[in-house]
Amino acid sequence: MDDLRELYQEVILDHGKHPRNLRALADATCSAHGRNPLCGDQLTVYLKLDPNGIVEDAAFEGRGCAISVASASLMTELIRGKTEAQARLLFEKFHHLAAGEGEDTVPPELADELDRLQVLAGVRQYPVRVKCATLAWHTMQAALSGAREVSTE
Ligand code: ZN
Repeated sequence: MDDLRELYQEVILDHGKHPRNLRALADATCSAHGRNPLCGDQLTVYLKLDPNGIVEDAAFEGRGCAISVASASLMTELIRGKTEAQARLLFEKFHHLAAGEGEDTVPPELADELDRLQVLAGVRQYPVRVKCATLAWHTMQAALSGAREVSTE
């Protein structure tokens, strides 16, 4: 179990220090700004959806703690190629995972993605950190819904 925890920490540190897709998206079809006042995390999520509602590109800008940045980095990788509905569903499942709300049934097409998010499951022991881990996801959902701003408070 300790080895696993160390591996998880490595992944979080890696994504926190070297975030993937940390850039603005000039041709984004929607974007939103998210704030987590409790921790001071702030980020903007950019999404580019193709005409069929598939996430063609996802990126983010901002600053925050390692958890919030790592989660945003992982998210932009994982939702690419997914439909809007799949991206929303992945957030729902990830939220259950991060908040420790028990076992969940996961559709097969999202099993690998949720597996990769297991690295963030440790936050469930720290309710404050759950907001860091889910900030990018709340922001992504806001962008899809046409909202410009979202706050975890
Ligand atoms: Zn944070």
